Amino acid sequence: MTASFIPPKRILMGPGPSDVPQRVLEAMARPTIGHLDPAFVTLMEEIKAMLRMAFKTENALTFPVSAPGSAGMEMCFVNLVEPGDKVIVCRNGVFGGRMLENVKRTGGVPVMVDDAWGAPVSPDKVREAFKANPDAKVLAFVHAETSTGAQSDAATLAKIAQEYGALTIMDCVTSLGGTPIHLDAWGIDAAYSGSQKCLSCTPGLSPVSFSQKAIDKIQSRKTAVQSWFLDLNLVLGYWQSAGKRTYHHTAPINPMYGLHEALVILEEEGLENAWARHRAMREKLKAGLEALGLKYVVEESARLPQLNSVYVPEGVDDAAVRAKLLADFNLEIGAGLGDMAGKIWRIGLMGYSAKQENVDYCLNALKACLK
Ligand SMILES: *Cc1c(COP(=O)(O)O)cnc(C)c1O
Repeated sequence: MTASFIPPKRILMGPGPSDVPQRVLEAMARPTIGHLDPAFVTLMEEIKAMLRMAFKTENALTFPVSAPGSAGMEMCFVNLVEPGDKVIVCRNGVFGGRMLENVKRTGGVPVMVDDAWGAPVSPDKVREAFKANPDAKVLAFVHAETSTGAQSDAATLAKIAQEYGALTIMDCVTSLGGTPIHLDAWGIDAAYSGSQKCLSCTPGLSPVSFSQKAIDKIQSRKTAVQSWFLDLNLVLGYWQSAGKRTYHHTAPINPMYGLHEALVILEEEGLENAWARHRAMREKLKAGLEALGLKYVVEESARLPQLNSVYVPEGVDDAAVRAKLLADFNLEIGAGLGDMAGKIWRIGLMGYSAKQENVDYCLNALKACLK
């Protein structure tokens, strides 16, 4: 007989998932109800309102996709890109590369703006790309590149897209709840995030938000959206139509309880206070990492508070240190991805993980492992 699975108790300070507060886990253990139950509809409406608070938007079409952040990404591309549409894709890490894959699969024509891994997206290069391709329909960029810890200037990038009449798709999987986002003030048309990073819920839900301009584009498509599950025209009947909801798919009921609780916690703390906490914890972590002689990958001006990438010191075995952190300290930190594999560590301070005791614990554990 197979025994029940009891996970080890870890401290999560990698690129996500982050530590999940007990309150969220307890919310998820409440009794399952039907997905068309009036009580569940109330929960959905509250989640939508709290997500608008977190995204700083009035967008009516703001809800969690029943799947991880990657599905939110795909929902933005399959709905907003039609075959033949030119899309300017900014790539300064892993996730920009995934945006390119999405554009290709939707039949869009990608125009790449490449920046070095660890650097923010260059607005000058984006402007040049629009000058050379004034017919581009969409600009896509990652606000917070989790593979490197670099933050790009979303307000400036979105403004350039608006000058050329293009829609903007923004990946804010790692920024939502951790670092300032102003969807409406910046004029972002489509944004997607994830439940397991700075919101500190369990993985598997992807908050998204679409502007009226994005909805107009979707409703005037000449071709059907290639994905049935992610077609917003169909999902809308479930998430949008108050009163007469129709069956589209069975929502993951208990994870929604968890997301609701995570957003209640965010509301209680205050969004601005949560941003300030991430910054304050970053300052403390940074001081400790530098005292250990570790060097940051990203320039100070573009550093994300919630994802600190530092170079693995010369002569230190990356994998051995991470294995020891996990085995002896139950502490997870992130490894480098792609070109940065083996060269950097990514230390997350996301959501509930961004607290003094985690900072101290991580610094002490690293100190012991680097001796
Ligand atoms: C984590 C992450 C994703 C993917 O989210 P999943 O929930 O793992 O699918 C996309 N973009 C960025 C920037 C991320 O950090």
